[in-house]
Amino acid sequence: MSIDKAFIQTLISRIDLIDLIDGRVPLRKKSNANYFACCPFHSEKSASFSVSQPKQFYYCFGCGAHGNAIDFLMQYDRLSFPEAIEALAKQAGMEIPHESTTRAKPAVSPDLYDALLTVLKYYQTELRQSERAINYLKQRGISGAAARDFCIGFAPAGWDHLQKHVKDPKTLLEAGMLIKKDEGGYYDRFRDRIMFPIHDRRGRVIGFGGRILDKGEPKYLNSPETPVFQKGHELYGLHQVLTAHRELSRAMIVEGYMDVIALAQHGVDYAVATLGTATTAQHIQRLSRHTSHIIFCFDGDTAGRTAAWRALLVALPIMRDDIQIQFMFLPDGEDPDTLIRKEGKVDFEKRIETALPLSTFFFHMMSASADFSSVDGRARFVNACMEHLRQLPEGLFQKMMLDTLAKKARLDKVELSPSKKSEPVKKMRSPAARAPSMVRLAITLLVQNPALALCVTEPSFLSETPGTALLFELIDTIQQHSLPTTGALLEHWRDHADRKWLEKCIKDEHIIPLNDMKSEFLGAINQLKKAANKQQIELLLAKASQNALSLEEKQRLQTLFCEK
Ligand SMILES: [Zn+2]
Repeated sequence: MSIDKAFIQTLISRIDLIDLIDGRVPLRKKSNANYFACCPFHSEKSASFSVSQPKQFYYCFGCGAHGNAIDFLMQYDRLSFPEAIEALAKQAGMEIPHESTTRAKPAVSPDLYDALLTVLKYYQTELRQSERAINYLKQRGISGAAARDFCIGFAPAGWDHLQKHVKDPKTLLEAGMLIKKDEGGYYDRFRDRIMFPIHDRRGRVIGFGGRILDKGEPKYLNSPETPVFQKGHELYGLHQVLTAHRELSRAMIVEGYMDVIALAQHGVDYAVATLGTATTAQHIQRLSRHTSHIIFCFDGDTAGRTAAWRALLVALPIMRDDIQIQFMFLPDGEDPDTLIRKEGKVDFEKRIETALPLSTFFFHMMSASADFSSVDGRARFVNACMEHLRQLPEGLFQKMMLDTLAKKARLDKVELSPSKKSEPVKKMRSPAARAPSMVRLAITLLVQNPALALCVTEPSFLSETPGTALLFELIDTIQQHSLPTTGALLEHWRDHADRKWLEKCIKDEHIIPLNDMKSEFLGAINQLKKAANKQQIELLLAKASQNALSLEEKQRLQTLFCEK
């Protein structure tokens, strides 16, 4: 979803961060326009979470959490970027304009959610009336409480129960609950099945999974893809897990609904399941928004190992340094459902402690077919590993994996570079990160007090000094879009390579009295200008010594001397 940037800026300027946060985390006013609270993002006894009214920016001195109103909603309410915008727009009473370039997506009618909720209630009523279905659940060991928590229902045998119950077949067809007959009319998709509703993260019913009661094929049947249900994105049980945990220290990914329910019923209430598909990057990304520790649980057989390897490959490109991924393999013939009933929570959780870290599982699988006795064999091993390790984002984890690889192949680690050819890997590093202290001071003052940009009346000048271009880009942007606060300014740089570096500048403490700020800032720019002049003069003089100056350049040199 692409949302007009100007709209986002207006939105941010209409929201007061203090009100927004205070509604969720009570704030205390400490000093001029600064508010404090115990940090909602890490546990602490003293208040190190600060919110600045003029900057419209929050920062925790304990854990480093920081950002503007959008970031806060993303972190605290665990919303995606578009969801956070949506929530803020609702609060501000504004309508989100969608850029015309946005792919025309069929609008999801709210009726679809209503219709699915009606279906859910119908299935639940049917379950209460079917002794046979209740007996089946009892025999599978599902408690009444678990059936209630997971809103389990029953679709009776027969072809037209659901459509008789609900008046609007068109909506039900769109929701995937009915199937169109060739000769006209509809029939129920789910018949004689235990029904497991699938909720989205916000708790709305978006689809169903149904298990056949007796013998029959297929054993499990899921709703088809609909405007509200995308299998590659949704995780069964995530809504229940998030309801049970405000802070989720870890989450487990298992294969089936019954596994999720049995685990929850026995106290392992942090498991989710993929919906009849292999794990996708979206699954992992969605889950990693709520926890930094993910445990994959697979059967110990060959099929399980293969599925685990596939999940590992999907996870590689999104392995941030702060994510921990483990692989847990169950004994032959067991699944989480059967195992948790046999051994209970404590013993089951002991298995997590011995689950393989991603790194161990990776090298275990890669080494299995490698020949370490010859140089050729080791080279092949290194090449095969590098193929995958290149997928890792740059960072500490990648470095450690490369170190391990070097040790295993008995190579010096300097010979291994993660880049595709032999080029150095500094692709995303911001040039501003090399900015000398003068530029850094100017940028820091500016991002902390965007209004300073309005004091700059001189046009920008060319300079070789790293960071100067960013400085003028900031001044320009603030002047053009009249961005009054740090929070608004940072939003403009959300997807920019320099954002991380700018965030650092926001956190820098400079003890400069408010009155002197303007002169410090203009002073810094002046110095930069002098340095740039000097660079230019040197350049032109060098050219002049070879008698290669144009008339224009000669005039320019003269002006520069005068200014000096
Ligand atoms: Zn914190």
